[in-house]
Amino acid sequence: MKKRTLISILVIMVMTTFIGCSNNKVVKTSNDSGKVKVVTSFYGMKSLVDEIGKDKVEIYNVVPEGAEPHDFEPKAKDMVNIEQGDIFVINGAGMESWSDKVLKSIKNSNLQLVDASKGVELLKAEEHGEEKEEGNDEEHGEYDPHTWLGIESSKIQGKNIMEALVKVDPDNKSYYEENYKAFEASMNDILNTYKQKFEKLSNKSFVTGHATFGYLCKDLGLEQNSIEDVFAEGEPSPKKLEELVSYVKKNNVKVIFTETLVSPEISETLAREVKGKTEKIYTLHSNEESKTFVEAMKYNVETIYNSLK
Ligand SMILES: [Zn+2]
Repeated sequence: MKKRTLISILVIMVMTTFIGCSNNKVVKTSNDSGKVKVVTSFYGMKSLVDEIGKDKVEIYNVVPEGAEPHDFEPKAKDMVNIEQGDIFVINGAGMESWSDKVLKSIKNSNLQLVDASKGVELLKAEEHGEEKEEGNDEEHGEYDPHTWLGIESSKIQGKNIMEALVKVDPDNKSYYEENYKAFEASMNDILNTYKQKFEKLSNKSFVTGHATFGYLCKDLGLEQNSIEDVFAEGEPSPKKLEELVSYVKKNNVKVIFTETLVSPEISETLAREVKGKTEKIYTLHSNEESKTFVEAMKYNVETIYNSLK
């Protein structure tokens, strides 16, 4: 009997191991650091993954520092890195026109693709930027891709990222969930504090380098105008500039925001025209002074508020 019991235990152990294996198909691949290998499309996604994954993830960011993500083409080394990843995080909503081609050509059946903006109610591109020029670009979609710069929308994105991390690394489920909760609380804090503050202001309009804040405007009841369109394309025509000057005057705009990847010259001209000033704003298209996602969001909302009050 004793021998039989031992065999039974052995059989159960072997079976458990098998069941374990079949359930763990998406469990993280081993790498030197023991961390989950996350590939992010551009800095906005990297900064979001940092908030949720913190020191349990190792991130490879595809679009290099200082490069414009709106018209990016991946290199061979990017393909290799994506192929070796456990998770590939894209913003989606038309931000990464290059990602479909990459995904078709790589061979890694365990790679978890996270379309981070999945579940976000997308805004039409034309509604929140300047009008697109006729036949301007076929490669961009019809929606405003800047979902990560909104408060409500970035919460959805953080949650999508959290769920993917839990799926790939279930041992650290509570770690990712806690980090997400803290992130969500920070976003709610910013929203609750500033929604009321903005409501009390009569000035609601601001001008930035390219039309990136459609989702933030929706959250806070604001209106943006911009020098370049929603896809960071199109040097403004003299007519557009003239319109901007009268917009700025009419709406009592005193601060013109500048972005790292958009030339500040026009912003400076515009500011001089109305005796205002320029000030930087973070769009997280690229690394900007290594600000964390939460720091950048806080700075943006506070800075826009200060420019309007
Ligand atoms: Zn952009």
